[in-house]
Amino acid sequence: MSARVRMTEYLEIDLESERWRCAVCEHAIGPAREDYKRGLLLYDRDPRDIYPARIDGELSFAPDPRWCRIVEFYCPGCGTQVETEYLPPGHPLTHDIEIDVDALKAQHAAHAAEPGGEGE
Ligand SMILES: [Zn+2]
Repeated sequence: MSARVRMTEYLEIDLESERWRCAVCEHAIGPAREDYKRGLLLYDRDPRDIYPARIDGELSFAPDPRWCRIVEFYCPGCGTQVETEYLPPGHPLTHDIEIDVDALKAQHAAHAAEPGGEGE
């Protein structure tokens, strides 16, 4: 029985160990009952590095770093970019995924017990 549940393109939860895992390299990112971002590498980017000025002058179409920062999150095991956030400077990171691990385990167990499920 597979005890891993895919949550996003690059994140899964291992129900047995109750840990977030990288879906690419299986690196254990952190406890599934906590924010997965705490176990990832962060790169706080100047938005002008990603969206450079298109024209000269104050209104250049480049994001103003006084109003926006881009935070990229990477797997420490394989370097896969897992998530990106656009935040005002000084804003705390968002806790965007909070899983009821007990409910997920119960749902997974019920599905595995169904005919044709992943039961043992
Ligand atoms: Zn990885």
